[in-house]
Amino acid sequence: MEKRIIELTNLLNQYRQEYYTNDNPTVSDQEYDKLYHELLALETEYPELIQKDSPTQGVGGLILSGFEKYQHPYPLYSLQDAFSQEELFAFDRRVKLEFPTVTYVAELKIDGLSISLDYKEGKLVTGATRGNGSVGENITENIKKIKDIPQTLKDPIDITVRGEAYMSKHSFQMINIERQESGEAEFANPRNAAAGTLRQLDTSIVSKRNLASFLYQEASPSQEITQVAVLDKLSHLGFSVNKHRMVSSSMEDIWQFIQEIEPDRAQLPYDIDGIVIKVDDLAMQEELGFTVKAPRWAIAYKFPAEEKEAEILSVDWTIGRTGVVTPTANLRPVQLAGTTVSRATLHNVDYIAQKDIRIGDTVIVYKAGDIIPAVLRVVTDKRKNQEPILIPNLCPSCQSSLTHLEDEVALRCINPLCPSLIQRSLEHFASRNAMNIAGLGPAVVEKLFRAQLIHDVADIYKLSREQLLSLEGIKEKSADKLLSAIADSKEKSAEKLLFGLGIRHVGEKASRLLLETFGDIETLMQSNEDAIAQIDGLGHVIANSLAQYFAKPEAQQLISELKCQGLNLTYLGQRVDQSAPLYGLTVVLTGKLEEMGRSEAKTKLEKLGAKVTSSVSKKTDVVLAGSDSGSKLDKARQLGIRVEDEQWLLDL
Ligand code: AMP
Ligand code: ZN
Repeated sequence: MEKRIIELTNLLNQYRQEYYTNDNPTVSDQEYDKLYHELLALETEYPELIQKDSPTQGVGGLILSGFEKYQHPYPLYSLQDAFSQEELFAFDRRVKLEFPTVTYVAELKIDGLSISLDYKEGKLVTGATRGNGSVGENITENIKKIKDIPQTLKDPIDITVRGEAYMSKHSFQMINIERQESGEAEFANPRNAAAGTLRQLDTSIVSKRNLASFLYQEASPSQEITQVAVLDKLSHLGFSVNKHRMVSSSMEDIWQFIQEIEPDRAQLPYDIDGIVIKVDDLAMQEELGFTVKAPRWAIAYKFPAEEKEAEILSVDWTIGRTGVVTPTANLRPVQLAGTTVSRATLHNVDYIAQKDIRIGDTVIVYKAGDIIPAVLRVVTDKRKNQEPILIPNLCPSCQSSLTHLEDEVALRCINPLCPSLIQRSLEHFASRNAMNIAGLGPAVVEKLFRAQLIHDVADIYKLSREQLLSLEGIKEKSADKLLSAIADSKEKSAEKLLFGLGIRHVGEKASRLLLETFGDIETLMQSNEDAIAQIDGLGHVIANSLAQYFAKPEAQQLISELKCQGLNLTYLGQRVDQSAPLYGLTVVLTGKLEEMGRSEAKTKLEKLGAKVTSSVSKKTDVVLAGSDSGSKLDKARQLGIRVEDEQWLLDL
């Protein structure tokens, strides 16, 4: 039995991995489900044999059986593809045979995943994935975490709308940096990242990942006459609607639009993979109807993929500030989407093994999210004199043994004295979003480190003018500039310092939240882990990581040294006052107030420490109801939430 449990655990983990990194699962969802349930059954019977890395135990993991099936009231369809001007003109001729006066609207084809949203009387009731077009998955709770999707529409109507959920290139990059540092497999592109996110069972992960949406279709029967009018209506109802579009009856014009958009797509903050051309008139759409799988009134022009073949010359291994060792391929340079590419990431050791990538191989490189080139796969036909990529056993910087931490795909150097690791953390400390010390970039850090002038961040504050001038290439002017930047950094608000320390899981946002609450770093050091975990937006992972960090004598030593050097440890922004009368309470306003306006009431409540939100849920502590309070008040009563009136606020 034990053998089968281990086997299933490994297999399922492998499938999850493939699903996330490649969006290219090697088994069907049904097969995954079957194995998952087999494992679950065995684990229920033999709980003592549950493996530490069992997919049934993970938080926020992918558990396909976790979502209910959802029967779409109106099916979703795919689109006919066109890859050339020829095919578009052929489409145009076919349509004009029936409707010589047709007008088209061309829209961006957003590269995310389709979502379908049902509203009843203006309230969001269901959000679902496309699935096979007639049955999808009910992901309502996750959809609610996408900030630009309204839960209540401007008009109280029943409507089913369709659109695309996507991740911006910026969020994608930030998430991958974070994943790399914490040893998790990176997402291959923003679409995979968005898909992986919407299938999370832990909705808090969805909130953190900043998904966004563009809606483009009314699936329930429309009162409008044209697609353009539908887009305007969606926008009026409160949805995000993409503003790039072209309306014309000439396919030449549309082709022109395509030619203009294509070179600029790298500048868009999100990925698009083509242009969708639709017949504008909804009555004509109905006449044209559908083929077996796609509408006759629309076509998707697909951009050529931004991929190129390139040869791998060698592989470098570099160390990040948390010790993760990342392989990068050096390529014979190729032109790709407007830039010369000579390096591409190979992600991690598992990726190299899985894709069997070797030196000398011709590989396909592409730009993930149009920004970071990555190796997609090997062109096996072109394989000749390749040699395997040697996986280092020892850190290329300090020669200590590299390890795989539990559950991680990344190789790590865990030597806290590793020179590369220290240099990366010094660079991080000086970086713009941390202490912002201009002039202390990688090159200068390296020089200072080599000259043994700095070993840790406190040493930065001990540098003298003479020492700086003793370094090659540093002249008086740059030495003075650097010294004044260092001096300025001492005055920074303490969340910059906390972030600069590079504590695992403690990013910019967490640093700010922590200091808003605790006010200064020393108080934070003495706070207990549970109190930290309770803070809205943080959690146990962060709290635990902080506790571990501050428990180390070296860390305590470092903080007290920084303090002696005159660094500010206090938060200079707006504090959250824990002794405020409404601290920790979530309040919802409803109805008409007599003495004050809504926004005034909101400001007052926030001054008193409350968090003011717009909709009533189990998390609401108090509903402040004025006259004519409607559904929010009913809901509050249903949920048994405390209700107060205006006088209560005035008394406070
Ligand atoms: P395909 O998956 O290649 O058949 O293309 C169809 C998919 O394109 C639809 O299911 C939508 O998810 C997506 N899409 C993205 N942007 C648009 C748009 N503006 N109009 C219609 N479909 C779109
Ligand atoms: Zn090392």
